[in-house]
Amino acid sequence: MPDLVVAGAGMAGLVAAAHARERGAHVQVLEKGDRIGGAMLLSSGVIWRHRDFDAFRAEAPAGDPELQRLVLDRLDADLAWLESLGARVTERETGNPRTSGMRFDTRSLVDALATGDVQLRTPLHALPEGAPVVLATGGFAADRGLVREHITPEADELMLRSTPWSTGDGLRLGLAAGGSLGDGMGEFYGRNMPAARIPESEFVSASQLYARFATVVNERGERFEAATWSEIDVAQWTARQPRARAWFRVAETALGERVRERTVADMIAAAERAGAAVERSGGLVTVETVAAITTTLGGLRVDRRARAAPRVYAAGHDAGGISTGGYASGLAAALVLGRIAAESALEAR
Ligand SMILES: Cc1cc2nc3c(=O)[nH]c(=O)nc-3n(C[C@H](O)[C@H](O)[C@H](O)COP(=O)(O)OP(=O)(O)OC[C@H]3O[C@@H](n4cnc5c(N)ncnc54)[C@H](O)[C@@H]3O)c2cc1C
Repeated sequence: MPDLVVAGAGMAGLVAAAHARERGAHVQVLEKGDRIGGAMLLSSGVIWRHRDFDAFRAEAPAGDPELQRLVLDRLDADLAWLESLGARVTERETGNPRTSGMRFDTRSLVDALATGDVQLRTPLHALPEGAPVVLATGGFAADRGLVREHITPEADELMLRSTPWSTGDGLRLGLAAGGSLGDGMGEFYGRNMPAARIPESEFVSASQLYARFATVVNERGERFEAATWSEIDVAQWTARQPRARAWFRVAETALGERVRERTVADMIAAAERAGAAVERSGGLVTVETVAAITTTLGGLRVDRRARAAPRVYAAGHDAGGISTGGYASGLAAALVLGRIAAESALEAR
């Protein structure tokens, strides 16, 4: 019998398994999809934190302060651990003055964390008997029913900007074990994307991240003012508009403005290449966008030992409460809570 069962071989699950194996444990890792890496493999690989605790509280005011403190205090050591495993750092800054962290090559991150067997195409359906479990199934972004129940009646219109496998299995299993839902079940991290078919290889490059320079309207012509640098509020608002659509209208004079490494013109060109409706007239460019859900932010309520229920631990997007009311790095939360969940689960053997 394994010492520990891990459900999910994305960021949180691979971290939990690697950490437990380092401690000599026999770990069984089950993965629903046909590859390891989860959303992490598709991500930009930037693992970051807010600069200090006050900034974290200001950026995610409804989150659990204890969990936020853990992420803040432990992230730097956990990043050093990733590097010690061989994960390749491509940048030692995030490019955002509000945050600190590192950008990793995601393929090397997966390779560094792949420390043992993973059973592919093998979803965890029921809690294992006799061994503690770490639920790391990545939340419920890919489950239309749960998205409709918790996030928006326009669930069928949303684009899924992640893998198709995170359908709330961890949430259901945790609840069945006696766990409870955390706060912020209606919150998600996502982007506005060109209203067109976008292959997963273009989830990062096609994102439309210039609402700060645009007038944003829904199909009734009602406006939304973007208020966050991450533009998470724009995606969340768009998700609740008719057909989950919003139009970004930008003056041609703003096309040279930059958001990190891309200009507004670059992002509009990506929308045009993808086949979205882009209209140019009277010195304005208008792009039709659709809200895309990357990850859900609400999940099981966990304590500072990542415990969701007796002998059941949750990490990554199966655990809620870290970025509630705003946004924080999902990769950072998965890294820190993944290691803690492994430690706690081994203590519970
Ligand atoms: C395009 C894109 C860009 C992103 N950029 C960034 C970024 O730069 N910085 C950042 O911090 N975050 C970013 N993210 C978010 C980040 O990838 C996630 O926050 C992180 O990967 C979450 O880790 P996780 O372990 O919870 O989920 P995942 O990494 O998705 O892993 C969950 C795994 O569980 C599996 N699974 C599901 N159900 C079961 C089951 N029943 N049994 C077994 N396995 C199951 C899934 O197949 C999946 O492999 C990005 C995401 C995307 C898609």
